[in-house]
Amino acid sequence: MPVPPAEVSALGATDAAQGALLAVVFLTGAAVGSFLNVVIFRLPRRESLVHPRSRCLSCGERLGVADLVPVFSYLALRGRCRHCGRSYSPRYMVVELATGLAALGAWYLFGPTLHALLAFVIVCCLVVVFFIDLDHEIIPDETVWIIAGAGVVLDVMGLVDRGGSAAVVFNEQISSGLGYQVVLPKSVVGMAVGAGLFVAIAFIAEHVFRRPGMGWGDVKLAGAMGAVLGPGYQFFSYFLLSVLLGAIVGLVCMAGGWRGRRDYVPFGPMMALAGVATVYFGDVVTPVVMSRFLIG
Ligand SMILES: [Zn+2]
Repeated sequence: MPVPPAEVSALGATDAAQGALLAVVFLTGAAVGSFLNVVIFRLPRRESLVHPRSRCLSCGERLGVADLVPVFSYLALRGRCRHCGRSYSPRYMVVELATGLAALGAWYLFGPTLHALLAFVIVCCLVVVFFIDLDHEIIPDETVWIIAGAGVVLDVMGLVDRGGSAAVVFNEQISSGLGYQVVLPKSVVGMAVGAGLFVAIAFIAEHVFRRPGMGWGDVKLAGAMGAVLGPGYQFFSYFLLSVLLGAIVGLVCMAGGWRGRRDYVPFGPMMALAGVATVYFGDVVTPVVMSRFLIG
């Protein structure tokens, strides 16, 4: 049956609008990624994130608008400075691309909601953690605070939506007339459980196995992720996923001869990767991971 032309053009217009919207979401995300590149470079050096404007690290020439279009500038200039021709690591473009995709992912998974924005903010912090820990073996406190704050806000939003059922309730009855109840937001309990688990691991690693365990940065990040994921299965699946990634990367590094058996491999990047997977796909990932470890 022939489709009336009016309907075709209406459908075409909607598709075009949808496509334009997704392009705007991606480019906004990529522009945020361009800022994350600045954060990754300057935050560990304790330099201002806004001043001075970006310059070429080689010739010092100030970068203009045309040099700072996310992803496209890198491709157009083939990763080189237009003034001195020095080539830059493709990592800058990878961060912009990944952050653009992360914005699209948040939009697709959670719609135009505050939830999507907070999930995206958490993932941006994890991108920063991934690279700064890789480069400098530190996890900046700023990223940890933002993740924990976003976790608490998400939790409060959940409490408003679903009422007290989303909280952790502690109930003690001593006798029929004597008892009390403590209601705690699950973000706060998650924070304590996450940080506590990592402190315990660090203690055991140092005192039983005589190996350097987790750093304080890892402990703080675990607390922040606990605030986001709560004290339940989501967090434990996240933890197992981080350890699994760490084991795989450790084995690959040993097989490749890049690191010895006792060399330190930073754990923050694994926690960041597992965090992105759990924040975005926790509903799918958590049941899979938990059934692997608990049942079969
Ligand atoms: Zn240059």
